[in-house]
Amino acid sequence: MRPSGSARVAGVAGWPVGHSLSPRLMASWIEAAGIDALYAPFAIAPDDARHALEALASTSLCGLNITLPHKETALKIADEVSEEAKAIGAANLLTFHDGRISADNTDALGFMQALADKEVQLDNRPVVVLGAGGAARAIVFALSKAGVSEIKIANRTRSRALDLSRALEIEAVIVDWDQRDDALADAQLVVNTTSLGLKGAANLDIDWNRAPANCVAADIVYTPLQTEFLKRAAQNGLVCVDGLGMLIGQARPSFEAFYGVEAPKTGQERALLEAILGPAP
Ligand code: NDP
Repeated sequence: MRPSGSARVAGVAGWPVGHSLSPRLMASWIEAAGIDALYAPFAIAPDDARHALEALASTSLCGLNITLPHKETALKIADEVSEEAKAIGAANLLTFHDGRISADNTDALGFMQALADKEVQLDNRPVVVLGAGGAARAIVFALSKAGVSEIKIANRTRSRALDLSRALEIEAVIVDWDQRDDALADAQLVVNTTSLGLKGAANLDIDWNRAPANCVAADIVYTPLQTEFLKRAAQNGLVCVDGLGMLIGQARPSFEAFYGVEAPKTGQERALLEAILGPAP
């Protein structure tokens, strides 16, 4: 259906925003759901973010996904903040109702959905999180909410791992970056949340021989989809979870928040995004 004058309009705001996969994904769901709706990209320069987001909230837009570098600003301008967004300290979803702004964060849900899609069931063995940036905070929050009893965090800047653990009020084990391989011995899951492995960046060096045979490897980087981190884990026979699952998983609740209907399960999401990202190198 072509959008009418009363279409529900939402979008994604970031800087830059041209690389975002969300417009294509959301458009495919809008089409499959057959609803009168639209989803558009909004490029918002960093020095104008607060003003621009508040201005957009005062229009007929029903909400915005928020991507880098505006996730903290989005939280600050909200009238209501969900428990997730508050704990994570960032919002990736704003919804607008009657002049009020509500902030939420669906990254944690998205990550857990990615694990569920691969039928990964967490038990009481440790999980190793590599990195302590914004995405790590959402993932550590999700893991602690899921009842993981021991979370080990290794980050290049050790103090950031400590800050993350304190901010979430959890007792994580902080591992020195150079000792990360030592933390693998009894891990059930190892997650790369660093930007290592991204196209153009260095690869994340890790010795998968130190991990148990039933350990799961997850990488949230999705450009490229098959990172060296995952490639080597697969060579060691480990179950691998790539970054697309989280991307799709965080988008579903946003779709429902904007348009009031569930995102249709087309089964085509992965193929659509893989076609845009191109083949693995
Ligand atoms: P941040 O900038 O907040 O954090 C970056 C992290 O990477 C920090 O832990 C940083 O360590 C680490 N890092 C960067 N360079 C190096 C290096 N050379 N050696 C070791 N560690 C390094 O980024 P985000 O947390 O927002 O995003 C991280 C990645 O996750 C990005 O690639 C992003 O695209 C991806 N992502 C994927 C999502 C998905 O849906 N699949 C959702 C969100 C993010 P230090 O603290 O020492 O600087």
